[in-house]
Amino acid sequence: MDAVLVVNADLGPLHRVTVQHAVRMLCRRVAEIHEAEPDRVIGVFPMPRVVRLVRYVVTRWRFSAGPAWSRAGVLRRDERCCAYCGGPASTIDHILPRSRGGRNTWRNTTAACYGCNQRKGDRTPAEAGMPLRRVPVNPGWTALAGR
Ligand SMILES: [Zn+2]
Repeated sequence: MDAVLVVNADLGPLHRVTVQHAVRMLCRRVAEIHEAEPDRVIGVFPMPRVVRLVRYVVTRWRFSAGPAWSRAGVLRRDERCCAYCGGPASTIDHILPRSRGGRNTWRNTTAACYGCNQRKGDRTPAEAGMPLRRVPVNPGWTALAGR
């Protein structure tokens, strides 16, 4: 049960965690007890109801999964640079092709030029003998910001 509310250092509510998770945060001293159950303890701590982060975190970064996948986002992440030849890219390649179950995810897609995309076709990079020059990653918010 997610019983404990985590609040930011400025007391802004963030999310709920289990008691066990909250206790781990207390042990690691990343959080302090803000409000506790009266007369109940868990280990050496009062039973927390609300824990407060010791340091302020920018919530977008710390607690969200990151930006949603988009074609435009992939091109921005990869700086419009083809993952196979390094040339200017205008298309998105699915590393595991969609026809074979590859999905629209950050890790399964990469910017590619039209030529490489056509050449690779419905093959994996290994099958096509076209190694990736870089491993696609989940971008943080910063990677997509301001471009
Ligand atoms: Zn290319």
